[in-house]
Amino acid sequence: MSIVVVKPGQKINLNKIDPGSTGKFKNKSEAKTQLSKNIKRMAELQNILYAEGKHSLLIVLQAMDAGGKDGTIRSIMSGVNPQGVRVTSFKKPTEEELAHDFLWRIHQAAPARGMIGIFNRSHYEDVLVVRVHNLVPKKVWQARYEHINNFERLLADNGVTILKFYLHISKDEQKERLQARLDQPHKRWKFNPGDLQERELWDDYMHAFETAFEKCSPDYAPWHIVPANKKWYRNLVISEKIVETLEKLNLAYPEPAAGLNDVVIV
Ligand code: AMP
Ligand code: MG
Repeated sequence: MSIVVVKPGQKINLNKIDPGSTGKFKNKSEAKTQLSKNIKRMAELQNILYAEGKHSLLIVLQAMDAGGKDGTIRSIMSGVNPQGVRVTSFKKPTEEELAHDFLWRIHQAAPARGMIGIFNRSHYEDVLVVRVHNLVPKKVWQARYEHINNFERLLADNGVTILKFYLHISKDEQKERLQARLDQPHKRWKFNPGDLQERELWDDYMHAFETAFEKCSPDYAPWHIVPANKKWYRNLVISEKIVETLEKLNLAYPEPAAGLNDVVIV
């Protein structure tokens, strides 16, 4: 898999990571069997995660606009039991949210034991869009990398396994996807003229992402940079990583109540 798992303090140059990579796979049909296998296994593991109620999994998705966050969630979660998953999409903070520290709204959405939580955007927006647009003074956003590491440490110490994925698309791919939103009636609702202004700030965003990866990839919650121009490859890589992570938790169904063998249902 040509996924980059960032090491603590590792400097990343996104220009040097190919968003179009598909690893050892040539095309979608080659990856199809593996993807359905992963999705099936994920469903089995989720069932045990839920039954055991000991661990939780937090999946953080970040990307540029049209980077595929929604599509990833749709594909990856297609097999799981909706009762055990909670997706939270973080938008521009409300007035109430802004009146608190930046992690206040995030902490409330952290997954309870037994649950899979998915963040569509996250606390990282507070060192991405906020940094690119100078929404708070530099001193304030600069202190946030450490706040984030401490926060994620708290979650990790409380049984939350954290998987952070950056969906890496090229600027050309973004253009095609935004164009498709303009051209195709069923995609038009997603077209936001504001995305064009953000696109002009592409390089600033890349730098902001690179800093976040460097500063916020402790061994307990590293960033994963996923080549995402090809949606099928993105889905494959992410599903693979989720299965691998859940397998490592050695999940087990809880012991049934004593004496069940003698129970007779009349
Ligand atoms: P979308 O994901 O397309 O629904 O857009 C959500 C918007 O909310 C994006 O433009 C984000 O940059 C913005 N957003 C999310 N979190 C924050 C934040 N903490 N501060 C400012 N803007 C944010
Ligand atoms: Mg959008």
